[in-house]
Amino acid sequence: MTEPVLIPCIGCGASVVDMDGPAFRYPNSGSPGCWAVYGEILAKEFQSPLYFPEHRLCVDTYAVQHPGDPTPQTIQSVNVHLMAMCLTFEHNLPSQQVTFLMARAVKANKGHLAWLEPPTFSYEITVNDVVKAQTPAEHLDWVRRWARHTWEVWQPHHAVIRPLAASLL
Ligand SMILES: [Zn+2]
Repeated sequence: MTEPVLIPCIGCGASVVDMDGPAFRYPNSGSPGCWAVYGEILAKEFQSPLYFPEHRLCVDTYAVQHPGDPTPQTIQSVNVHLMAMCLTFEHNLPSQQVTFLMARAVKANKGHLAWLEPPTFSYEITVNDVVKAQTPAEHLDWVRRWARHTWEVWQPHHAVIRPLAASLL
């Protein structure tokens, strides 16, 4: 068997298998090999409630690391997932409340959000780190580190996101 060829994911920069297949829903947002790793992470979360508590942050982080090309859908996605991270990290809200407020964010900001230029396409923490977790505790810890790192990398846009998040409260 030949070794799989590895390429950097076009969204997050993770070293992933060069393969055909489905990717994240937005054009040019991520590579199929990265989507496959994310699928393994989600499978753990859906198969065991012990892996599930940070699912909200997991979804937010994957979306923010894979912004895609500017379209009304991708602009909304990145803005709203960053608002969710802000509500989580800076307002310490529980995930159920964040999810509730995200619905409000979509409704309140339809068509009024701006494209945020991604600060990087190569992150220090990616799906490759999260997927290696061997226990639920390790998994939850890596999801939080992955999310926190991503929120910090998007610091150039915090000044835009903070008032949007605060307006939902
Ligand atoms: Zn990726």
